[in-house]
Amino acid sequence: MEALLVNTLAPGDKILGINSGKFGERWCEMAKVFGGHLIEHKVPWGHAVDVREIDKILALDPDIKIVMTQACETSTGVLHDIQALGELIHKRPQTLFLVDGITALGAVPLPMDEWKIDGLVGGSQKAFMLPTGLSLFSFSKKAWAKIEQNPQPRFYFDARKEREANKKGETYFSSNVTLIRALDVVLDLILEQGMDQLFRTIQARADFIRFFAKKMGFCEYALRPSGSLTSLAVPLGIDSQVFRTELEKRFSITIMGGQDQLKGKIIRIGHMGYITETSQVELIKSLAATLNQVKPGHLSAEQIQVLCAEALEKKESSGGL
Ligand SMILES: *Cc1c(COP(=O)(O)O)cnc(C)c1O
Repeated sequence: MEALLVNTLAPGDKILGINSGKFGERWCEMAKVFGGHLIEHKVPWGHAVDVREIDKILALDPDIKIVMTQACETSTGVLHDIQALGELIHKRPQTLFLVDGITALGAVPLPMDEWKIDGLVGGSQKAFMLPTGLSLFSFSKKAWAKIEQNPQPRFYFDARKEREANKKGETYFSSNVTLIRALDVVLDLILEQGMDQLFRTIQARADFIRFFAKKMGFCEYALRPSGSLTSLAVPLGIDSQVFRTELEKRFSITIMGGQDQLKGKIIRIGHMGYITETSQVELIKSLAATLNQVKPGHLSAEQIQVLCAEALEKKESSGGL
């Protein structure tokens, strides 16, 4: 995220930051640190950005040099309409479109060239199914024109230096060789099955969890949900932090909670990575059992039995999620 900014943002540049949750907030703070004249566009949590509003803001301010947004805002589970935003921004020769695709790249379609993205970043620890420690970024030709003559100071994340080194088959500094080799394996796995198949698998996991979670009384929190994760509002009278702790203690399953105003209110379940169908069914069973533990009587024993049988049956008939 920092690499995208220091390469394309010049001190004093007007930058429109879409802040729809914790990661948007972080990126906006970063833009200010690097001297950006930040115009923060706050989107209510759980909502996707209204592209017409961005259109209006851009029309009124020809001076905006960068628009930046998360593709998927992981703190709320929302997926923004990157294609529509790209279309808008592409028409302005002086404006670049930066996208944080850390929970989108490799999980949902995000064709950089086709959708007119000028700077894109992904992370090893999310859809690339690897440990933390490696991030991947790419720039468009339009972005490179700015990068070449951007006066912003930068050293470690200087894309010009990195590109020079890459031409010689090297990296600017010592690189994370172990993760790069592991990434090579993951990319082969992805290409073997095809990206479309991978996206379908991840979406099928999301659909499976959402279907049964709703039956248990959870509510989908994101109004435009991403396939990469599911955010669920917990039933009334339950503290989601307590729920998470119990799920972890009893079943050794880790899910995430909410931050800031969502603390105690939501849970978030990831669909990226090495997830088997069996673990999906186990998750449903464990969610149901934990629900009843933290709110006795929320589901009857019979309801739980029916749910679990149904989950198992859905798994068997899915022919492979
Ligand atoms: C995980 C994530 C990041 C990176 O955050 P870390 O704290 O470094 O893991 C950035 N943006 C989004 C949208 C993410 O989901």
